[in-house]
Amino acid sequence: MTAEPVLVIGAGVQGLTTAVVLAEAGWRVRVRTAERPRDTTSAVAGAMWGPAMLKPADRVLYWVTRSHAEFTALARDESTGVHLATGRMAARFDLGDAVPPEARLIPDLRPCRPDELPAGFASGYRGTVPLVDMPRYLDHLVARFQDAGGDLRLGPVNSFADAVGEASTVVNCTGIGARELVADPAVHPVRGQHVVVRNPGVDEYFIELTDSGEFAAYMPHGDRVVLGGVAVEDDWTRTPNPHVSAGIRSRCAAIEPRLGEAEVLAELVGLRPGRDSVRVGVEHFEGARIIHNYGHGGCGVALSWGCAYEAADLVAGLDPTRTSDE
Ligand SMILES: Cc1cc2nc3c(=O)[nH]c(=O)nc-3n(C[C@H](O)[C@H](O)[C@H](O)COP(=O)(O)OP(=O)(O)OC[C@H]3O[C@@H](n4cnc5c(N)ncnc54)[C@H](O)[C@@H]3O)c2cc1C
Repeated sequence: MTAEPVLVIGAGVQGLTTAVVLAEAGWRVRVRTAERPRDTTSAVAGAMWGPAMLKPADRVLYWVTRSHAEFTALARDESTGVHLATGRMAARFDLGDAVPPEARLIPDLRPCRPDELPAGFASGYRGTVPLVDMPRYLDHLVARFQDAGGDLRLGPVNSFADAVGEASTVVNCTGIGARELVADPAVHPVRGQHVVVRNPGVDEYFIELTDSGEFAAYMPHGDRVVLGGVAVEDDWTRTPNPHVSAGIRSRCAAIEPRLGEAEVLAELVGLRPGRDSVRVGVEHFEGARIIHNYGHGGCGVALSWGCAYEAADLVAGLDPTRTSDE
């Protein structure tokens, strides 16, 4: 184990994954988090690995590719909360033949036959992807981090001046909190809401491909199904809206009628950390180094392992080409 300590701020999927990579590589790591892992935005996510239409495009392609390999391996052990599921990605318009480059990672991807599309949908694809039951998965990451000797502490970090008093290498994985901690106005909330229901026997996922802020999505995780979705820019409201829940349920029930009658177990809100470009890079601050890893929008789970490995490389000084990231 190295003597040099690293402080990771944040215990969502980015903070915990980065902390696991560092701790398992032998670094002495402390995580400080304002919220318990199960209270973070990450715990609210659906969550599905899938193509991410974010910037910087070349890095995003590398991050999702690396993450796909990790999640596929994790799916061999169900206790991680990750499993492989088949389902449909469909649109109410013609998607055409062009698919994003990451889609080639989906081994059985094929266009839907017309009889496989729900009413009102014009085109879509079927394929098998990793689904992540986030509350269980975050528990898995915490256990893995602690098994590797990591130290997880609850409590906010008020400034980087405080943080660098604790360690000369700090990894900033604060999600929407980066808006305040970094004073980065580019970070903004994209509000999401989910309805979690008892699983009436659904084992396939469905996701509507659209630019609209209202869409249909459902993801089964054993005895529960997570229903979405909404994406509302610049909305900080953290309480569930019953009208939004009703809309989510009716859109999902139109595709899978059993979801319309299923018992509601929870309604959850999460603030996706929107940013024009994901930020993974180094900032020098009062003689210390801050490694930023935030701004993953609606794809933070899908990007998590790739970003974590890149942040860990930056901690180790292994990637001198990426000292600036703006
Ligand atoms: C409804 C919904 C559905 C989604 N579905 C998917 C999906 O299917 N696939 C996918 O890839 N992504 C999905 N996402 C996006 C994904 O959830 C986010 O991109 C991801 O959770 C961001 O992770 P994070 O660790 O950066 O942030 P967070 O999970 O928000 O964690 C931030 C951490 O930083 C801590 N923190 C913040 N400020 C401070 C401070 N000053 N001091 C100490 N700690 C601090 C917080 O307490 C928290 O621990 C979805 C999001 C939502 C809301």
